[in-house]
Order: sequence, then C-alpha cells, then structure tokens
Amino acid sequence: MNYEVKEQLYEGKAKQVFATNDPEIVMVHYKDDATAGDGEKKGTIRDKGIVNNKLSNALMQKLEKEGIPTHYVQEVNDRDTFVKKVEIVPLEVIIRNVAAGHFSLRMGVPEGKVFKTPILEYSYKNDDLHDPFINHYYALALELATQEELDTIAKYAFKVNEVLKKIMLDANIRLVDFKLEFGRLPDGTIILADEISPDTCRFWDATTGAHLDKDLFRRNMGGEADAYQEVMKRLLG
Ligand code: UDP
Repeated sequence: MNYEVKEQLYEGKAKQVFATNDPEIVMVHYKDDATAGDGEKKGTIRDKGIVNNKLSNALMQKLEKEGIPTHYVQEVNDRDTFVKKVEIVPLEVIIRNVAAGHFSLRMGVPEGKVFKTPILEYSYKNDDLHDPFINHYYALALELATQEELDTIAKYAFKVNEVLKKIMLDANIRLVDFKLEFGRLPDGTIILADEISPDTCRFWDATTGAHLDKDLFRRNMGGEADAYQEVMKRLLG
C-alpha cells in the first residue's frame, strides 16, 4: 500500500491530518507539541510524536486481533501513519480503573483508590465548551450518537480496557484510566480512532507507582520525555 500524500486537512494540538489520493485514507502526523490545562500550558515533549505513533499503532494492531475494529492501516515512518478516514463521534470516552485526575477532584476520592468495577464516562468533545462532562442521555438528546452506536462504543471501550490492562501489566504498568475516540466509516460502522498513548492514558509503574504519562508534564513534575521512552521500551523492546 502506498498512498500519495496531499493537502493538510486539519491541525490539532498534537497531530496533523493529511489527505491522500485515496478518499478513504488519511495520513496522521504526530508532533512533539503538548498542551495541558485546557490549552493553558503549552510545550513540547522530546520525541513524543515518535513514541505515540509507534505505541498507538502497536496497540491498535493488538486490539484488532482481539476483535476491536480500528482505523489503523499502515505505519509510514516514525511519525506518520495511514489510517481510515472517519467522521469522529464528538465524545471523549473515558474508562477509569483507579481514581485519578478530574475524577478525584470532582468526587473527593483520593488518587489511587481502586474501583470495584471500571467506570465509563463521556465528555462532549467541544473545545469552546471545554469538553463538558455529559451522560448517555445528553449524547442521545443532542444526537451526538445513536443508542446503537453508544452500545457499540461502550462494548468496545470495556473490551479495550480488558485487553490493554493485560498488555500493560505484562510491562509492569498499571492502567489507571484512559480516553478513547471513535469514528464512523462512510457506511456507518463504528471503529476505534485517534490514539492510545501516554498522552491519553494514565500509566503508573506497577511496582513504584511512578507516573509514566502526560501527568508529568501537566503537573510540572519533569522527566516526561524519559517516561515516554520508558513506556515504549517496555512495550516494544
Ligand atoms: N484525557 C485525554 N484528553 C482529555 C482529557 C482526558 O486524553 O482531553 C485522558 C487523560 O489522559 C486520562 C483520562 O483521559 O488518562 C482521564 O482524564 P481526567 O478526566 O481525569 O482529566 P485530566 O485530569 O486528565 O484532565
């Protein structure tokens, strides 16, 4: 598969998306740019784009094997990947196994509390509104997704959690929480899109509890570039 790369379609905070000669395929380019706190903090994390590209691609391929359809098509190079073009469902789908971040702030539950069962929550993907927390009924009422789509999304999200928890634990990493985005193919099929990386997941070292994710950047703790490399090394060798 070799697609010709055409014009840029979109530039986000961490990625750029380019058209190709095939209308069903786009190319994603992963940048080192990082933002936090609703865009208030801006910076870069050295080689983050490489880690996120390679890691996300490897994880998506493993998820495909476990029956979760994804947008992954082909890695082009360290920072670029061909993916299926989708219409993104405007929901941030968050799964939590352990209390952290906004959950802890909102609910007054200390970070580190292990939940009896995983939590699924939604935010409305809308930068102007700062991605507000919504529930299933908001999504239906505002026609962000249909009931059938939400059922599919929830089923896939919990399955991703089971598969990813195991992959991470094999690398001595605890999967605390993560965010997924789903897309619709032209025929309406729901597939996993966006990325799975230390930008979008909380990873804690299973032995020491050390953060191995973007919280190091968000919280000005330092060492984020090394932590991203460490995650890549443990998972991809
Ligand atoms: N997350 C993300 N993008 C967002 C918000 C959250 O990737 O815009 C991820 C985040 O990395 C974490 C999980 O979703 O793994 C839960 O995040 P939370 O709601 O606690 O918000 P945060 O405290 O990260 O802002």
